Amino acid sequence: MSFFLSERHKNLLPYTPGEQPRDMKYIKLNTNESPFPPSEKAQEMAAEAVKKLNLYSDPESKMLTEMMAKTLGVEYENVLMTNGSDEILNFAFMAFCDKDNGAVFADITYGFYPVFAEINSVPYTKIPLDQSFKINISDYFHSGKTVFIANPNAPTGIALELDEVEQIVKNNPNNVVVIDEAYVDFGAESAVPLTKKYKNLLVTQTFSKSRSMAGARLGMGIASAELIADLKMMKYSTNPYNVNSMTSAAGIGVLSDPEYTEKNCKTVMENREYTANKLAELGFECLPSVTNFIFAKHCKVSGETMYTELKKRGVLVRHFTSERIAEFNRITVGTKEQMDALISAVKEILNEVEK
Ligand SMILES: *Cc1c(COP(=O)(O)O)cnc(C)c1O
Repeated sequence: MSFFLSERHKNLLPYTPGEQPRDMKYIKLNTNESPFPPSEKAQEMAAEAVKKLNLYSDPESKMLTEMMAKTLGVEYENVLMTNGSDEILNFAFMAFCDKDNGAVFADITYGFYPVFAEINSVPYTKIPLDQSFKINISDYFHSGKTVFIANPNAPTGIALELDEVEQIVKNNPNNVVVIDEAYVDFGAESAVPLTKKYKNLLVTQTFSKSRSMAGARLGMGIASAELIADLKMMKYSTNPYNVNSMTSAAGIGVLSDPEYTEKNCKTVMENREYTANKLAELGFECLPSVTNFIFAKHCKVSGETMYTELKKRGVLVRHFTSERIAEFNRITVGTKEQMDALISAVKEILNEVEK
């Protein structure tokens, strides 16, 4: 830290992204990326867009926003495209929270929420998940704060029912409720239709997981026109060209090829059930996931040992050290081949432990 760092950032603890090692070839199951390449249409359109990189991108991302709105069954003014969904989440902290109206989220959830709160000088409260790592919805009623809920939650993989989401929204009439749907395409129900009914609901989604575009950085917010206008104010006060032209073109390609996304999600869900069953046979407790990852703990081997031993065998998973979840690992669901390699590595580790 330099002598010059602003006083207000002296205690900032930045987000720790999952490892992206370049030293050797790992089976990479640690950051919930898609194992499949982006749609060919996305590849073609992005390649075309490269030729016009001398020009600034369209600050409105008009064509992409129109297609996105159509895909989601909402109007143009209900959508804001951003540089990953991390950006729209940051905008939400900037726009809807302040010193009196802080933020509230679960004790075990996306690790970026407290970081966004800190950098925006927003006070926050964490509400513990229950014993089975579920959200107790009434804990969030009349919170007097901006509510952030990942649904399905990460790293647990567990989702709320749409009716439960609605109750949280309904019971916070004077505050914005943000529903982070990064993993919604793998089996949960989206709250997007509720944005027509509730002016205080912001839903965020991303192209990073189900749409195979983590490296392109494309996300979005869906909400009432009023909330979107506030969020746009944040965008035009920080980075008007937040979505670059290659990404925007690739996004249009992805949306013009919905069958490809659907097929990949279906494969991931099948591989998830396959893997969860195998892991259970091998002595793991797996939380019931509706995402592209499995949160699992072994009855004999510690979370950290499992992580380290898997890494030695070229399989990278995500281990968190915070107390309640230190025995678990978050395992991204990949291709069938990747899952079989994971299972072989686990068997090898368990055999050595038996000895
Ligand atoms: C991956 C993820 C995001 C953000 O992803 P982007 O790549 O920034 O779109 C947001 N929320 C949760 C819970 C995530 O897991």
